Amino acid sequence: RVVVGNLIGEDHVNYVLMYNMLTGIRIAVSRCQAKIKRTLTDEDFTARHKYSFDILGNELTPAAKYDFKFKDYAPWVFRELREDYFHLDPSDYLVSLTAKYILSELGSPGKSGSFFYFSRDYRFIIKTIHHSEHNFLRSILKRYYEHVKSNPHTLLSRFYGLHRVKLPHGKKIHFVIMNNLFPPHRDIHETYDLKGSTVGREYPEEKAEKNPRAVLKDLNWINRGKMLELGPEKRALLTEQLRRDSELLKEVNVMDYSLLVGIHNMQRGNRDNVRRNTLKVFSPDMPPLKRKLTQLKSFSPEAIAIRRAMRESDPKRLGTSPTDTLPEVDSRDRQQLIFYQDEGGLRATDEANDLMDTIYYLGIIDILTPYGSLKKIEHFWKGLKDDRHKISPVPPPEYSDRFFSFMRAIMRGGGGGERFKEEK
Ligand code: ATP
Ligand code: CA
Ligand code: CA
Repeated sequence: RVVVGNLIGEDHVNYVLMYNMLTGIRIAVSRCQAKIKRTLTDEDFTARHKYSFDILGNELTPAAKYDFKFKDYAPWVFRELREDYFHLDPSDYLVSLTAKYILSELGSPGKSGSFFYFSRDYRFIIKTIHHSEHNFLRSILKRYYEHVKSNPHTLLSRFYGLHRVKLPHGKKIHFVIMNNLFPPHRDIHETYDLKGSTVGREYPEEKAEKNPRAVLKDLNWINRGKMLELGPEKRALLTEQLRRDSELLKEVNVMDYSLLVGIHNMQRGNRDNVRRNTLKVFSPDMPPLKRKLTQLKSFSPEAIAIRRAMRESDPKRLGTSPTDTLPEVDSRDRQQLIFYQDEGGLRATDEANDLMDTIYYLGIIDILTPYGSLKKIEHFWKGLKDDRHKISPVPPPEYSDRFFSFMRAIMRGGGGGERFKEEK
């Protein structure tokens, strides 16, 4: 799977779909956002709001370029998640996604058949999902919401919205909007998608040499002798959060999720310029005002320096006292999110908790596959990519335990520690 995107222009096969998705998001989200915030009710979790767009427009929806229907699921729940728990600025969100109709498409469908689109500033990902994944997310929305609420540092995918576009001939496309774990401003030098299983979990090394953007897997990680270099404090915090997150995934009966790990080597820096050249995310066509509105501003050297100075003068700062109690997040400052505090990621540390020259970008992705549906989905897409036999679906409790023990085994403070292989 390729990891850089193709910009979707008017001549792209999915241009109409992109136009419809972004128009629907723009109208539906701003409509909800315009109302005065209120406390959530149980009905909010099952709510769906329908919009009908056409070229003429009506009192509810403005004229659109194409005819289509749009559904916004649980808008109030996602609004609260975005604002109160994911620390997103409401206007930032809409501006990033819809100020200009520019998305780039990531690769082609894999065996799941999903498409991925990046917002033009690269902060958000739209993922089309299977109907069963959609149903599943709705069925666990309350649990997910409660989990995020009581786990401000969760590593689970941050879902910002759940929607559906229906085209005039009846085709329905479900999609979620989530966080891009990888930063717009840094090259990712290595990417791993780790499940804790070794069956078929290898990207051919010969191919990896030629493709720096390959998504590597568990066996590549093990064979290359990789470790998450984290000192005792970060290690304890990450372990605790992984434990809680994988516990939830076990309870809601999912499997097939993975820990996505992007590695940025600060020595190597952005020399390769992999993403910027290809994705044009920094193309200067953005008027200054809009640029100010997006969160790219918080990555400016000044902003980073200020925040770093603030963090370093804060005695409560993570890493100054040994603890595995995850700190509370009390303001809207994203910088307090420990696993995303170092320029959007987590800096490696050694046994003395001193910073090292690596930044990890981590998150648990693909969390919408309930046990039992995997086989069906794979059957559905059969023929696209024939590696079904390599999957060894294990029940969620086993999957979760295996996932958690693998992740625990691959952490160490830079310079020492146990190896996964040796533990087995
Ligand atoms: P499959 O079911 O075949 O594994 P999928 O279509 O469900 O595939 P995912 O596993 O969700 O897709 O993601 C595929 C790849 O896309 C990941 O390995 C990763 O490289 C990239 N990706 C997915 N989600 C994110 C994210 N939130 N941030 C950055 N990259 C992501
Ligand atoms: Ca996956
Ligand atoms: Ca999947």
